Parts: sequence; C-alpha cells; structure tokens
Amino acid sequence: MTAKIKEFPGVGLRESDFTERKVLFTEWKPDARYAWDAGVAIGRYLAELKEGRIIGVRCHHCRRTVVPPRIFCEWCFRPMDEWVYLEDHGVVNTFSICYVQWDMERLEEPLIPAVIEIAGASKGVGILHLLGEVDPREVKIGMKVKAVWKPAAERIGAITDIRYFKPIN
Ligand SMILES: [Zn+2]
Repeated sequence: MTAKIKEFPGVGLRESDFTERKVLFTEWKPDARYAWDAGVAIGRYLAELKEGRIIGVRCHHCRRTVVPPRIFCEWCFRPMDEWVYLEDHGVVNTFSICYVQWDMERLEEPLIPAVIEIAGASKGVGILHLLGEVDPREVKIGMKVKAVWKPAAERIGAITDIRYFKPIN
C-alpha cells in the first residue's frame, strides 16, 4: 500500500524554519572518540593471531573445542573451561567462488571464501576465511589447507593477520 505525503497530517519543515530558528537544532559537531572492546574471548583470539597462533576454547561438559573462542558454551549454558592452542591448518568445510565483491564490482580474479575446520577444534567447527594460491576449479570440500600468515611485523591482531589459507598435501 502506498500513500501520498499529502495524506498525512502536519506540515513539513521549510528551510526558513531553520534560519528563523523556529525549530531546535545545533551546528555543534561532537568530537566523540570511542574505543571498541572485543571482549575477553575475542580479545585473546586477536592477540594470539598477532603472535601467529590460533586459539580456541574447550567445554569439559560437552567436550567441544570451538574457534573463534567464546566465554560461554552455547550448548551447555556454562562458562568455557580451558584455552586451547589449535593448529594453523585444517580442512575446507564449505566454500563459495565469488566473482563480484561487496559493492557488486565484478572481479577479474574470483575470491574464494571458505569455512575452514581448524585442526584441534571439534568436527564441523571452523572459521570463515579466504582460500588462496589455488585454482577455483580445484577447490573441494575436505581439501587440506594451511594458513599463510603476514610477516610478524605487519600483524595487528586481526583475522587479516592470516592472508588466506592455501592447499597442502
Ligand atoms: Zn558445552
């Protein structure tokens, strides 16, 4: 259902309402500065990525090891018990071959986002990242892949400290 503006009661604002100060407004531009806290679990995860390590957490109740880490086990509704260092390799759980980027710009070289089950985490648990150094036609579910890290001096504590995952034999 569509409605014309005229059908709504009231009067629209005019430019003169601002210049004649008939409405409250301000030209004050707040200098708002803020910091974003990643929280305990993701904060540690990002700090470990900066050191070239992948860390997860284990729940002793359901015996799952998950990555990225979280403070509470969403299956058991209880705090996680233990930090666990994981391998920087794993297998492709699922993937996509993207020929357009986020703004619908066409890509000459496709991106290959994939969910990678990280070795040491529970079956089916993984992280979303990109695959690289691989022909898109060669990508398969179950393919073994390894992290390609940025040099230590370039890492900032972000998931992009891993450039991509590449196939290994
Ligand atoms: Zn659990």
